[in-house]
Parts: sequence; C-alpha cells; structure tokens
Amino acid sequence: MVFAAVLLQVTSLPGEANSALSIGLSTGDDRAVFSAPNSQINLASFSGGKASFRSTVNVVAISPGVIKAGSVNLKLPVTVRSNVILRWNNRPYRGHYRLVQQGSGFNVVNVVGIEDYLKGVLKMEVNPAWPMESLKAQAIIARTYALRNRGRHGSSGFDLCALSHCQVYRGVNAEDQVLTKAVDQTRGQVLKFQGGLAATFYHADSGGHTAEVSSVWGSSVPYLKGSPEPLKYQSPYSSWQTTLRLSEIQRVLSSKGIYVGRLTGISVSSTDSGGRAVDVTLTGTAGRTTIRASQFRTIVGPDRIRSTFFTMGGGPVAAAPFIPNDTTSPGSGEDKVFPLTPKDEQMLIAFTQQGVFKTEELMDMLVKPEKRGFYLRKALERQSGAGSLQTPPSFDAPVTGDTVTFSGRGWGHGVGLSQWGAKSLAEAGWDHIRILEHYFPGTEISRISN
Ligand SMILES: [Zn+2]
Repeated sequence: MVFAAVLLQVTSLPGEANSALSIGLSTGDDRAVFSAPNSQINLASFSGGKASFRSTVNVVAISPGVIKAGSVNLKLPVTVRSNVILRWNNRPYRGHYRLVQQGSGFNVVNVVGIEDYLKGVLKMEVNPAWPMESLKAQAIIARTYALRNRGRHGSSGFDLCALSHCQVYRGVNAEDQVLTKAVDQTRGQVLKFQGGLAATFYHADSGGHTAEVSSVWGSSVPYLKGSPEPLKYQSPYSSWQTTLRLSEIQRVLSSKGIYVGRLTGISVSSTDSGGRAVDVTLTGTAGRTTIRASQFRTIVGPDRIRSTFFTMGGGPVAAAPFIPNDTTSPGSGEDKVFPLTPKDEQMLIAFTQQGVFKTEELMDMLVKPEKRGFYLRKALERQSGAGSLQTPPSFDAPVTGDTVTFSGRGWGHGVGLSQWGAKSLAEAGWDHIRILEHYFPGTEISRISN
C-alpha cells in the first residue's frame, strides 16, 4: 500500500519513455476489458506479478490496490501492453495502459508518445478541411500546451485528463489523415518564450479583437496582449444574440454566492481597448456588485454568453434616479402616505448601503414612509452639491421586463490564438510561423527532442 501511495505521485514508471505522456482515460473504475484480436496481452504488476492473455482480458478490482485479471490477482500499479493497438473497453489507443489505484478501484491511464497523443487530440480542436498552415499552428499549440501542463493530474497518477479540462483526447478513433500530416510536419515543435514553454491559449473566434489576458484572468503575460485581427473575416460566430431571464441569471449567480437580491439590472462597467467587457455590474433589490465579465460569462454559461465581447440591448445606458413610489402619485407634489412594500424596503436598504441615504434617514423612512420624498430631495441635493458623494443609484435601461438580451461577437475567452482568425490568415497565405508570431508576439518556435 505504501508503495502504491508513493507511486501515485509520479506519472511515469521505470521502462516508460520520458517523452511519453500519461493520459487519464477514466477514474475510479472497478472493471475494464482489454482486447487485441488474435494477439497477446501482457499485464505486469510493478511489484512483480505477471499474466498473459490472448485476444481479450477482463479486469476487476477486488480490494483496494488489487485487481483480478482473468483468474490472476495482481497488485496495482499494473501495465497492460500488446504488440498491436490495444483496445480498452473496445476503444483503441496507441501506446500502452497503466492501471493505478484510486480508492477501492483504479484509474485507467494511457501512456502514449506526445506525437501519437496529438493525433488523437487535434480533431477535437480543428476542422481538417481548414488550410494546412492553420492546422500546423494548432498542432504546435496543442503540443506546447500538453508539455507545459504535464503532471497537472500528478496526484491521480497521470499527466493530463482526456477531457476538455486538459485537452479532449479520443485516441485512434479521432485520428485523421490530414491532421496527422499537420502533426508530422511540425514534429517536436513547441512555442517558447524566454526559454520556457509558452502559455498557448486559444479560442474559436475573437470577434475581431483578441483579449488582453490580464482583463480575463488577472495576471499579465507579455505575449498575451489583445490586438485587432489583421484581416476581416466571417465565421458562424461573428455575431450572436442571447436573451435570458433575469430571474434565471439571478438564480445561477446566487448559486455561486453572488447575491444582490432580486436582480434588476446588468451593465458593462468597463471595457478593454478593443471594446470587450472587462467588468459587469449587477444591480438588485439588496445591493449592487461588480464582477469580472469573464466570471459572469462562466457562471451564466459560456455557450449562452459566447464571449465577453457583448453589449446588452442598446448598450449600457445612463440611469434615471430612483423615485420611490413615483408611479402611484402622478402629478402630485405632495408627500402622500403609502405603505412600503417589501420591495421598496429592500431598495431603500440597498441605496443606503450605496451611500445615497444615511442610516438614520433609512430608519426614519422605514417608520415614516411619507418622508421618502423629503429624504430623496435631500439626497439629490447632496449629490448635485459638492460632488464628493457616492455615484447616484442607476438602473440600467437595456433590461426589458424580466429578460435581457446580450448581443456579442466571437466565441471563447478571446485570449491567444483565434482559430477563425488563424484560418483567415492561412487562406490569405500566411504560414504557421507568421500566424503564431501574430497571436503570441515575442515567442519563438523551438524543437523538443523526442
Ligand atoms: Zn485535466
């Protein structure tokens, strides 16, 4: 057990090439089938046990750290190899497999050379019908990404997972002749910055201007600056619109701990140099808060709000001041007595939190609703006076009833390479080197030995 626990910290075993990557295909399984028609399948435990089978073998977890392969008990970790392409649960992967303990079950890990790995990745990222130079740029990005993120799942006994968390990897089933050519023609090439592997972020479509990384994730990276696309192009994501219910947005936001009461307004409160939303302000009956536009997008749903390159309706609109109960006393210059609804109370509390009313004014208004008009006039006088007070409360006009419409451009976080942008450049005759130089300025293509 001690042995297994230690081994879980490493991602390659003796006898496995250093240039190989270990990819977690599945975690915590209690059974697996390996098959290689008419060929021998060899299992070897790191602690010494061995077993061989012809064509197929069933593996079952029988106790923590121990599997039964056919009728043979083996201690994990165990390698599973064949001279031909070996299938796990009928899915073919190149290289070999390793089973490592995970609780009472095991993780299924595919140990595969970086170049073969990329052949099983690229189709998930690009369209083989695109120009070869854009595919080569993508191959270099994917290779750099994999090596830079090696060991990301080290505590689970593998380098990368096979899901979009790392890079979607489907093995031989995802291979494509054209993409294999793009991998082969860039063999061993990675993107480096000042000697280290670059952070090769990419996205589907920048919408015309890539994003500055610091406005998306906070920290600045010299080669991940926002810049306009060199050429104009059309993509299926060039423009999009999404209409969402405020109540639904409110529900998902509060499930992530962002609570402003009943959500009544959303506005873009700052943009980057390209016009992309950086911060979004949420206004509700219990207050107001500002969050990163990228965080807002992630929470609300990155497939619904496809990018942070959006406006709402006609865009953020300057607000009208809040007039308590103004609709109930049209034309009346007098302060009438109206009971406060719970909504009115929440609004007054929110505005007090924003500094519009003083706490003692709030207390007074809650007890004597007829004094609301008096205090509102006082608040407005204060704001038009010295100008040293808080920003006046604002309600954002783009919200119509309970829905809000987002109009945007592009798809994805906008950082690094824009795939549709790269396609347009390749069509215009740019080679993969120039494309990568454009999206990652200051980096250079370098060769790894593998
Ligand atoms: Zn992962």
